[in-house]
Amino acid sequence: MKHREHPINSVNKSLLENKNKERELSDADHRILGQQLDLFSISEDVGVGLVLWHPRGTTVRNLIRDFWEKEHLKNGYQLVCTPHIAREELWRISGHLDYYRENMYLFSKDGEGYVVKPMNCPFHIQIYEARPRSYKELPVRYAEWGTVYRYERSGTLHGLLRVRGFTQDDAHIFCTAEQVENEILSLLDFTERILKRFGFAEYRANLSTRDPQQPEKYMGSEQEWSQAQNALAKALKKKKIAYDEMRGEAVFYGPKIDLNVVDAAGREWQCTTIQFDFNLPKRFNITCVGADGREHEIVMIHRALLGAVERFFAILIEHYSGNLPAWLAPTQVAVLPVSTVFMRYAEEVHRKLLAHGVRSELDSSSSTISYKIRQAETQKIPYMAICGKNETELKKIAVRKHGLGNIGLLTIQELVHNIKLENKP
Ligand SMILES: [Zn+2]
Repeated sequence: MKHREHPINSVNKSLLENKNKERELSDADHRILGQQLDLFSISEDVGVGLVLWHPRGTTVRNLIRDFWEKEHLKNGYQLVCTPHIAREELWRISGHLDYYRENMYLFSKDGEGYVVKPMNCPFHIQIYEARPRSYKELPVRYAEWGTVYRYERSGTLHGLLRVRGFTQDDAHIFCTAEQVENEILSLLDFTERILKRFGFAEYRANLSTRDPQQPEKYMGSEQEWSQAQNALAKALKKKKIAYDEMRGEAVFYGPKIDLNVVDAAGREWQCTTIQFDFNLPKRFNITCVGADGREHEIVMIHRALLGAVERFFAILIEHYSGNLPAWLAPTQVAVLPVSTVFMRYAEEVHRKLLAHGVRSELDSSSSTISYKIRQAETQKIPYMAICGKNETELKKIAVRKHGLGNIGLLTIQELVHNIKLENKP
């Protein structure tokens, strides 16, 4: 069997420590936690920078996505789903073939060139363009957990933080120039709510603007740029979000806002990007039909709130040191019979928890109860339900909370209620 690489490349701590002096490989490192909690791995046979999500990791990922999708539907987005590859022609129109070629995976079949998608934007544009659009429909907001592939030099890859295949919590907003300020305002509110749910209450903002000394570097007119930059700055001011203006840091196609979350250790991580685009609407000629019956140019905003899901997952597990809150924990309750004598009652508890929608796991091993508790502690499972003689007779469970210890004798209903309270946004 070939060497199989786990989250920690070859588990060579000292080597990694040298490579990443700024980020010590502590027990709170997502690569260590990813292995300890059996969340994900990276296999050399599959390729570096390509993540394999294990069942527990997939559960967390799906919980994040379910929450994210529900919130997006509540906030006027429509969900879309697009292919992983597209003809070279699409990327020629979008400009990626000229400007982004070295980061793209290209291949050909039957003499036709294809690209493995590095971005979702051209696909969402195609959906917008599938029929004529009236100004009355705007803003149109398309959202997708879109998996993209970008070539990165192998030396720059780092656990889940920098990978070659990743999923963006992507969305594109098509609107008129007049609608932009309101869109950005509600987008900032929305971002705040989403990030708060994941335990990030503090963040900082950067506003990347163009360098007025080098107008030739940018697409779009001076008026378009100042209008867009003003709309972004005004929204930040209205929301009272302190920001640094990064002059000359904007990409050629438009200004942007980046939000950095501050984690439990005080480190800043860039997650959210809200990006203006003067380039793609022109290249694809996306318009809407105005009140005058004529075609009008529209504005396009790219935005990802979590950024890359893999990267956000790494930030999240490090932020919580692996102790994910009950609503995100892959297993919420470990049911632990004190001995095999109480297995039948433990099975009943486990079944009832599952029936209530609780993610329960039954430890049916013949280990001692203290060993079972230690195992559940190592797995950072939020609740333990211990079933012994007393509990079986009383039809209750002795509940331990991770990191807190005993919280008393509860009925199954009471434990379910506690978990449901924690599940509420
Ligand atoms: Zn985009």
